[in-house]
Amino acid sequence: MLSRTHQPDVSRPISRQRRGQRRGHGIRLAVLVLGALGGTACGDPTATVPDFAYDPTALTGGVLYRWSTGTRVRVFVEAAPSTGVSLATATQRAAQQWNAAPARGEVALEIVTDRNVADVIVYDRGTPQPVVAGLCPFEPSGAAGYTYFCNVNGRAEKLRPVTSTVKTASVVIRVDMTTTATQSALDALVAHEMGHAVGIGGHSPDAADLMYTRPTVTAPSARDRQTLRHVLGRPADLTL
Ligand SMILES: [Zn+2]
Repeated sequence: MLSRTHQPDVSRPISRQRRGQRRGHGIRLAVLVLGALGGTACGDPTATVPDFAYDPTALTGGVLYRWSTGTRVRVFVEAAPSTGVSLATATQRAAQQWNAAPARGEVALEIVTDRNVADVIVYDRGTPQPVVAGLCPFEPSGAAGYTYFCNVNGRAEKLRPVTSTVKTASVVIRVDMTTTATQSALDALVAHEMGHAVGIGGHSPDAADLMYTRPTVTAPSARDRQTLRHVLGRPADLTL
């Protein structure tokens, strides 16, 4: 299943890659490991942070990542091949589903029509890669779904859309629509990857959860929502 170590090497800063399963769904995070991982900062002691239902840092070697509290995350969907299912529809639905999860509106996804202002870009592998790779390798695997971002000193690197001189996007989601014959299957795939994009860097062992490695449900479960709320209530090691 997952071939990686959970032990961060804190003796020296190094750049390393984490990856999910080759089949199913992947998440790749190039982690610049710093000495403060698992640090001492505490959140608001009066706020109640729910425990996670499954480890949201299992794919990142313990790195908790999320957007700054209050961020409206702008999501752009590249035009996809005409296959009878709609990537735009799946992304719209995923955004609506995840927007219902935060308890206090800590993060909200918003679909935009200009890739040059996007924080997240979603594309199908049948279309060209939409961003210029930066400091970290951008080498998508054969996974059906894939979420990418690059850690630079605790913040996600700003990637430049190929048509722009402005560096904007922090996260890129690539899906393989040849693996999704139905709209429902694509909805599940995109919603799963969007779960990674909002801060869940792990997979659930429960097939009833959207963040199960090979999801069949199309919306976050109570356990998925609880896990995201846990992430949103914690200090981030990496800000997207
Ligand atoms: Zn995944």
